[in-house]
Amino acid sequence: MKILIVEDEKPIANLIDLNLRSSGYQCTCVYDGIEAADLIEHNTYDLILLDIMLPGADGYELLDQIRPTGTPVIFITAKDSLLDRVKGLRAGADDYLAKPFEIIELIARVESVLRRSGRMEERYEIGDVVVVPKSMQVTKGGVPVDLTHKEYELLLMFVRNRNIALFRDAIYERVWGTEYDGDSRTVDLHVQRLRKKLGWQSRLVAIYKVGYRLEDPS
Ligand code: CA
Repeated sequence: MKILIVEDEKPIANLIDLNLRSSGYQCTCVYDGIEAADLIEHNTYDLILLDIMLPGADGYELLDQIRPTGTPVIFITAKDSLLDRVKGLRAGADDYLAKPFEIIELIARVESVLRRSGRMEERYEIGDVVVVPKSMQVTKGGVPVDLTHKEYELLLMFVRNRNIALFRDAIYERVWGTEYDGDSRTVDLHVQRLRKKLGWQSRLVAIYKVGYRLEDPS
């Protein structure tokens, strides 16, 4: 995922760069409007973080250039007035972030804009197993795995809660939608089938008197 950071205050640009990189994004920083316009013309990005007040060309001018490309934009601005926010959003920005901001807010907004724009799919990789909820695809070593609906629902619950102990009754109620009767073997049977189909004998760990945990050390 490639992100362009357009921000003339270098400490802020570098802070954003550092944090987005550690979240796994590929970042490019640019500190003035003219250079930014040049990069936008010759490269493709998945997201652009755009300061408003810039030397050379301001954020609104750059936004006019970006809009036809369909690349999502988050405005980063010191101007926290309602008018600026409205102007930015009207001009076509997908979101805005007012300085000073918390890094967790930045990351959350980046993720949310990427997801909304369809550039970031919910996707899980556990060893050689890949789960893509949007298309309900499950593959192991690149080969599709045939799962029943309940097995798939159970798998999704495990991958979304990796490394967390899940109670048998909670699993039952979430996946089967009815109250757990106390001694149903349904959950255990489905877990056994998942283990077999995915080769997860050692990953889907039984926790005595509790339930199960999907172990994913990566
Ligand atoms: Ca600025």
